[in-house]
Amino acid sequence: MSSSSATPSVESFEAVIVGGGMVGTALCALLAQAGMRVALVEAQPAPLSLESAINKLPNPRVSALTPVSQRLLTHLGAWPAMQKTRVTPYKGMHVWDAEGSGEIAFSADEAGVAVLGHIVENTVTLAALNNHVIGDSNVTTYFGVRLQALQRSSGSRLVLDDGRQLHSPLIVAADGARSVLREMAGIDVASDDMQQEAVVTTVQCAKPHGGIARQAFIDGRPLAFLPLTVEGNDHYCSIVWSTTPEHAAELSELPREALGEALGKAFGHRLGEVTVCDKAHRFPFGTAPCLPLCAAAFRIGRGCCPQYPSAGGPGG
Ligand SMILES: Cc1cc2nc3c(=O)[nH]c(=O)nc-3n(C[C@H](O)[C@H](O)[C@H](O)COP(=O)(O)OP(=O)(O)OC[C@H]3O[C@@H](n4cnc5c(N)ncnc54)[C@H](O)[C@@H]3O)c2cc1C
Repeated sequence: MSSSSATPSVESFEAVIVGGGMVGTALCALLAQAGMRVALVEAQPAPLSLESAINKLPNPRVSALTPVSQRLLTHLGAWPAMQKTRVTPYKGMHVWDAEGSGEIAFSADEAGVAVLGHIVENTVTLAALNNHVIGDSNVTTYFGVRLQALQRSSGSRLVLDDGRQLHSPLIVAADGARSVLREMAGIDVASDDMQQEAVVTTVQCAKPHGGIARQAFIDGRPLAFLPLTVEGNDHYCSIVWSTTPEHAAELSELPREALGEALGKAFGHRLGEVTVCDKAHRFPFGTAPCLPLCAAAFRIGRGCCPQYPSAGGPGG
């Protein structure tokens, strides 16, 4: 990791990635593996380590990773460390309409595959990717710094808030949904407030999840119970309830016991009584499809469109 310097200096790279989330760090690992000299700029003060990535209570932010994502992470060398840390395979999926008008269930066995995917805490994925890029001789990381300016008069040059400057023909905006670099680069978005939020928390259910990802559609909006196995205990689920902002506000203000009852009822008590183990976190959803790409900078990742995909869906 580079350290702060009082004298502004310009360092050159074949690519500079701003944003060391899952997307930016995965791209950094891929480019470095392809032999490119890459800089990764991240506002967080330090990389997340595998040791600090997990607690007994799972991190509320999880992703459903499909076998395609698993292959990518295996290719990058990150998957074995993730497996050793904590990943929960799911072999079945049940989706139904709470009004009782439709239901679908399918399994890995029927599809002739080992698993449909894995539910993984985002911290686990990021820590494994960090573990991989740090120490890669093609990668220089800049933690604890923010982008201050983009200068495009002679190639592309990024000015960081500690005064350092990075020069590269390829600058990537992986700095999340409200990307500052995207704005600086003048890449337009057509944003659309979906009037939808996700309420996310971790619960324990009376019945074991059985390695099945479940999703109920309530008034057309999904409530997912994603299986998590913690130290052999397969009663944990990560909850993602996509709903209106008003309903999300109501849910997040409920005492835990009342939230557990609301979740159990909405879910038709398919996993029995629900005990909420964490506070209810709220995430706004919105779409922000990218308009034209410009020559020297581009943005990647769903961070530009923080929409929750259906469990095991295309986003996995
Ligand atoms: C409830 C919910 C459930 C989801 N479930 C799934 C799922 O099952 N499967 C799936 O594929 N996706 C899922 N998603 C989407 C997924 O979480 C996001 O697409 C993904 O986290 C985006 O990652 P990212 O690296 O692009 O952005 P982020 O995680 O937002 O990372 C951006 C990084 O940039 C850094 N940064 C920001 N500004 C600056 C700056 N100026 N200078 C330096 N660094 C900066 C930040 O510190 C951060 O580390 C879900 C999203 C939500 C909200």
